[in-house]
This record gives sequence, structure tokens and C-alpha cells, in this order.
Amino acid sequence: PPADAVLSTLGLTAGYGAAPVLDRVAIEVRPGETVALLGANGAGKSTTMRALAGLLRPVTGAIVLEDRAIAHLPAHTIARLGLALVPEGRQVFPELTVIENIRLGAHGRAAPIDPAEIEALLTRFPRLRDRATSRAGLLSGGEQQMLAIARGMMAHPRILLLDEPSLGLAPAMINALYAVVADLRDQGVTILIVDQMAALALTVADRGYVLEQGRVVTAGTAAELSADAGLEAAYLGAA
Ligand code: ATP
Repeated sequence: PPADAVLSTLGLTAGYGAAPVLDRVAIEVRPGETVALLGANGAGKSTTMRALAGLLRPVTGAIVLEDRAIAHLPAHTIARLGLALVPEGRQVFPELTVIENIRLGAHGRAAPIDPAEIEALLTRFPRLRDRATSRAGLLSGGEQQMLAIARGMMAHPRILLLDEPSLGLAPAMINALYAVVADLRDQGVTILIVDQMAALALTVADRGYVLEQGRVVTAGTAAELSADAGLEAAYLGAA
């Protein structure tokens, strides 16, 4: 794997039953990059995210986080090593408050919570500040997605994995959410993002990979992928 990657895979093959969903996937994310993983429904994007996070055991292949092989490690260890997955479907704890949810993101990290960092997060996510003491279950879908990302950031991740952050959100909320993602990118956070709305993901990404039936069929800069007429027809039209 490339020595300077934060996260890379080589020959990653994984699935749920006899027939693997992912077929020898090779991707890499370098420090400070935002990389988009694109593809049609069922192409294997979420499966890739789950394998990276240790929620699905690869059949074969390597996953390297900084300088460690992690393909065989349990999810909580991978999280502690610095990979934060914000899964599809904005999974917040509905009975806990916004602040309690945010604080839970620090579980498992070494450093104690500094009130100043909560303050900084609430500045970055002003909608969460307004609802800091509300139960998370009462937030709108977009606010819950922002909360899930804020909680992920509390882990001080080396890389943030965002799986379908725009799923089910109203257009105005999607724009607000992507402004947050662009802001994190501009702060130097390393991000791997999956979104069904490929054109949208490419607005924040430096580079991207296109998955088709579990294989990487195209890779390129966001500009190259955005300009690719074939991709436009196949994937980008959705946005
Ligand atoms: P989507 O945007 O629809 O989630 P995706 O690219 O993320 O698409 P995956 O969710 O990774 O695709 O699914 C890839 C393939 O794996 C699909 O054929 C899907 O039916 C199958 N699959 C996903 N989850 C499971 C599971 N838990 N058990 C069995 N098969 C699964």
C-alpha cells in the first residue's frame, strides 16, 4: 500500500454469502483528501464502508489504516485507531440529548473532553447549538445527520467515513449538510464519502472511484469524473 495513505485497500473482497459483493477493490485516501465512492444502487458502496469499519469481515484482501493492517481487527479497535464511520440512516440515540450524543463520540478515545471543543463543534454546527438540550429523536432528519457527523468528529478521527449523508433529506437541508462537509474538508479533515447523488459528492471531493458490481471501474479527479459523459448518463444524472 502507498506509504502516505491514511487509508487504503488492496484486493478487498467481501460479501454476505457465497458470492462476494466486493471484488478486489483497491482504493486509497491520502492525508487531507476528500474521496468520493460512487456507483449505482447495489454497487457495493455501503458494503465497502462496512468492511473498512470492521463491521463486515473481508474474505480476502488488505485494509491499511496509516501503518496498520486492520482487516482482521474488531470494529471497536478500528474506531479507536482513528476510523470514524457515520453510517447510513443517521443513527443517533433518540432518548439522549444532542450534547449527550456528541459526548458519546469521545468514548474510546484517549483524550478527555475539553469544553472548548464542544463549543467549537457547536459553532461549526449552529443548528445543533439551538437544540443542544433537546432529545435527539426530536430533531429533523438533517439535524440528526449533522449530529451524527458531530459525534463522529468527537473521536478525533484520522479519517471520517460518511455513508449516504444526504439520504432522505430535503434539498435545503442537503445544501446545509454539504456546506458542513466542505467546511470539514477545508479544515483538513480526511474524508471518504459515499453518496447516491454523485454530482453532489463530487462538489466536495478531490477524487473519486466508481464501483460497478463490486469492482472499481473508473477512478479520477472530481473534475475528470464530473466531465465524463458516460458517468453523467449512468450516475451523475441522479443529482
Ligand atoms: P445502496 O445505495 O443501494 O445501499 P450500495 O452501493 O451501497 O447501494 P450495498 O448496500 O453495498 O450497495 O449492496 C451491495 C450488494 O450487497 C447488493 O446486492 C445488496 O443486495 C447486497 N447486500 C447488502 N447488504 C446485505 C446483507 N446484509 N445481506 C445480504 N446481502 C446484502
